[in-house]
Amino acid sequence: MEIALTERTMMYVDDILLVIGIGLHLLALGTVRSITGLLGKSSALRRHWMSLGAVITSFAIGYVALIVLWEGRALVANDLVALMLLLAGAFTMAVTRLSFITTSDVVRIAKLERDAIEDPLTGIYNRRYLESKLEEEVGRSTRLNTPLSAMMIDLDHFKHVNDTYGHEVGDQVLRHVCSLIVSSVRPGDSVVRYGGEEFVVLAPNCPAGDAFVLGERMREKIAGSRLSLPGGQDLTVTASIGVSSLTTDSSGAEMLRAADMALYRAKREGRNRLCIAPAGSPAPA
Ligand code: GH3
Ligand code: MG
Ligand code: MG
Repeated sequence: MEIALTERTMMYVDDILLVIGIGLHLLALGTVRSITGLLGKSSALRRHWMSLGAVITSFAIGYVALIVLWEGRALVANDLVALMLLLAGAFTMAVTRLSFITTSDVVRIAKLERDAIEDPLTGIYNRRYLESKLEEEVGRSTRLNTPLSAMMIDLDHFKHVNDTYGHEVGDQVLRHVCSLIVSSVRPGDSVVRYGGEEFVVLAPNCPAGDAFVLGERMREKIAGSRLSLPGGQDLTVTASIGVSSLTTDSSGAEMLRAADMALYRAKREGRNRLCIAPAGSPAPA
């Protein structure tokens, strides 16, 4: 009598567990529906997710059948359990396969995103990245009332380097100068290849005076370094630098324009020098 009662209780517990299981599968089916809704009608991934949906549906039906068969104490219930364990294998396989496809896609998209903002020659950020970074840094500087400076660095007579030593050596020089700039800046600064032989450094928390010191250090480092060419020759290059800082009434674009104008002044005044934009005078558009 007592044994029969325990058995009965266990049956109820089993039924409750199976009903919860059915509920979980129905929730999972809802998620599968949302995912397939996001994917194009002819996409192969959608077909994979539909197959997974079919496996989940089979599970839910199997749970209902188990409740019925156990209630009637049918021996066939054991075969059904074995069949459902087989389905569990198929389910695991489908989930891992889909996870692999999704992970591959995420990795591929991350690489595409990185490629879109990276300069392939030097490996640093490109101009596209600067646009979003500038907006972010100007926002932060305005919000926290902290200084922000920009440096525009342009190699002097670089066309002459290309014309004399060839484009490949020119590329080598660009990589070399880039590594000198990157090694000169502080951890929070951003270095961007702005154009052919032009780089921009964005220096947050850096007032004009500090930017001047940083820029001068960079200029001296570039001018003082020698690049050994395969023929045994040593090549030296110089750079001109324009520095500007964000003012309360200027935008990020105006700060860059002011740095550009200071750079052209440095070129006019003889190159291999740094000029600083006049304070509080945003450059006209
Ligand atoms: P300045 O002192 O007035 O700046 O003169 P410059 O010769 O440096 O300036 P100019 O604008 O006349 O020439 C820039 C040169 O940079 C021309 C172009 O061939 C070269 N250049 C641009 N991008 C690359 C690149 O990716 N690799 C190489 N090797 N050269 C490049
Ligand atoms: Mg140049
Ligand atoms: Mg240039």
